[in-house]
Amino acid sequence: MTKSVHQLHKEAMVVDTHCDTPLRLADEHADLGVRGTEGHNDFVRMKEGGVDVSFYAIYTSGKLTPDESTRRALQLIALTRDAIDANPDKVGFASTVRQARELKAHGRGAIMFGMENGSPIQNDMALLHEFYRLGIRYITLSHAYNNQICDSCAPKEKTWHGLSPFGKKVVAEMNQLGIMVDCSHISDESFYDCLKYSKAPFVATHSCCRALSNHPRNMTDKMIKDLAHAGGVIQINFYPAFISKEYADQFWDLADIYEDTQKAYWKSDKKGKKEVAAFRLAEKNILKIKRPTVKDLVDHIDHVVDLVGADHVGLGSDFDGIETTPVGLEDISKMENITKELVARGYTETDVKNILGENLLRVLTRVEDLAYTF
Ligand SMILES: [Zn+2]
Repeated sequence: MTKSVHQLHKEAMVVDTHCDTPLRLADEHADLGVRGTEGHNDFVRMKEGGVDVSFYAIYTSGKLTPDESTRRALQLIALTRDAIDANPDKVGFASTVRQARELKAHGRGAIMFGMENGSPIQNDMALLHEFYRLGIRYITLSHAYNNQICDSCAPKEKTWHGLSPFGKKVVAEMNQLGIMVDCSHISDESFYDCLKYSKAPFVATHSCCRALSNHPRNMTDKMIKDLAHAGGVIQINFYPAFISKEYADQFWDLADIYEDTQKAYWKSDKKGKKEVAAFRLAEKNILKIKRPTVKDLVDHIDHVVDLVGADHVGLGSDFDGIETTPVGLEDISKMENITKELVARGYTETDVKNILGENLLRVLTRVEDLAYTF
């Protein structure tokens, strides 16, 4: 390839389908207009990383009541829109592929919305319509709990064994409106129901391959083949605990301790000496585990390409939603390292561009085109 890695990365539409950055707006009052030293994503580091489209996840915990989750979703949307409006030189809001491409042409990043966990729509199709109007362009049907739409992959006890009767109507209405169905986090049975009931291609916005790292959040080879056959894409997650089984085996127990000591730390107003020491120790222990690298991440891309070709895979970092990252991908400013690794492995320019973003944009364009045709 004669083109430099940097040039290729700059030319490509680079799309990241999953960042939890709105949480930092709500919980840390982060200023996304200045280069941050905490977290993984802000408008400055997005530009440095050559990322053109960042999907901000409107995430609500499954522990909230329906009204609390609707309120929380509206708050995260409002905070993000305010942050975008405060930085018109850097980013703009996009709700269509065309708008995203226009923003890139003007040297600005595009922020798009996905909703992670469908709880905020409650049992009300009118709320689904309203969230569409507010710009939501994919919905991760559930998070870590079964909800009114479908079962999650996390709990052992399943409520619906797939999509609920209401969930089937939600999928049909999402197809009709032009919202992508996201099968990350949902149970395997829910995935196969999406395959059965979604008339439009759908996506996994932040999942890895189960064949390389056995975890229910990752997809089996059969699921990846079925998803691709239906025209969809799997966007590879950067979470070390999903990329590497070796890492995960050491990580999960320590992660529980980390979470507990972090809660105590926050409660103590960060002043209680005992709480600070316990939290710092938990943090230190997690950092001691050998992290996977950008090469291990690209192994997941290779695996999908071996199964179904280079037209059905992309990137869904989960930045700002994960405690640790792979070596070489410490935050969004380092995204070019993926392009570098893809080029080193001999991917063609077209394949690299497709993986970096065009595959996802193809699905979203298809979903837009199919709206109101059912
Ligand atoms: Zn997630």
